[in-house]
Amino acid sequence: MTTTALSLSDVTVAYDGVTAVDRVSLELPHGEVLAVLGPSGCGKSTLLRAVAGLEPLTEGRIRFAGEDVDHLPTHKRGFALMFQDGQLFAHLSVARNVGYALRLRRLGRAETASRVAELLELVGLTGYADRLPATLSGGERQRVALARALAVEPRLLLLDEPLSALDATLRERLAVDLRGILRAAGTTALMVTHDHDEAFTVADRLAVMRRGRLVQSGPIADVWAAPADEETALFLGYARVLTGADAARVLAAAGQPATASLAVRRSALVADEAGCLPGTVVSARATPDQVRLVVDVDGIGDLDAVAPLGSHHAPGERVSLRVDPSRVAPIPTG
Ligand code: ADP
Ligand code: MG
Repeated sequence: MTTTALSLSDVTVAYDGVTAVDRVSLELPHGEVLAVLGPSGCGKSTLLRAVAGLEPLTEGRIRFAGEDVDHLPTHKRGFALMFQDGQLFAHLSVARNVGYALRLRRLGRAETASRVAELLELVGLTGYADRLPATLSGGERQRVALARALAVEPRLLLLDEPLSALDATLRERLAVDLRGILRAAGTTALMVTHDHDEAFTVADRLAVMRRGRLVQSGPIADVWAAPADEETALFLGYARVLTGADAARVLAAAGQPATASLAVRRSALVADEAGCLPGTVVSARATPDQVRLVVDVDGIGDLDAVAPLGSHHAPGERVSLRVDPSRVAPIPTG
């Protein structure tokens, strides 16, 4: 049984009368990770800061485990924050950075040392205790920042674009690690990001924001399978959303009813020598009036001869899509 940890109702924040977060309502169960995903400037950081108690609400309520936290100052909420740039203390060693909050709590020396060692192991930095931040890579610094944020076992971890400052390869790897670390620690977390891959890798739930408002939220698979609208689909990483005649043409070639829309997700796979594109079904849904099949194969939107598609394919299942070059039809972009 999961219970609600964080609950936002109609949370609204304005700067000088200009609304940055507009009546956002959300629930986050204990032990889960929620990613708030949206383009730059849509109000993500403002929302996170409001939860942390760093921005006053114009309207609405924030509760944790059923109790109002609006009246509590930041340090009494039991939440921890981690930012894009980690913000480590440059003159302190890795161990002293991680143990900082423990020492503030007057934990004994031996106890602090063993907790720090445990945290360094959790984030994969055993052996780094005596290093200074300046001698670490960007990814290592973010691991230290994460260990430091987790040190006091916050009841909620707030992450603002924790991986955005890293280069793409490292970001991908660290996203996987971040997910593992949060799971291993059983941490309830709210992460904001503009990067859909990062959100998909790290989180259990997704809340899509646009212009201060919440557009859609729910378990990741549900949001992915049925984006609220075209703009949301594109933001989630769909390469195109086909409707009308384009969708009918592609679906007809796939042996599906023609009154449907088809979305194709962007990814990088290479066709094999037989002209087959191996792919993974990301989502498949069939109802009397709609068929939507999302296959994780790059470029398939440019080819309208797709063979064994059907509602019996389950998400995650591997499929091969046979491609008949004579029937390749370009699909208009935009
Ligand atoms: P995001 O994190 O999604 O990029 P922000 O929450 O930082 O977006 O910003 C949302 C909106 O609020 C933007 O229009 C931004 O210019 C504005 N804003 C953010 N912080 C302040 C501030 N301290 N004072 C005035 N306006 C702000
Ligand atoms: Mg931001």
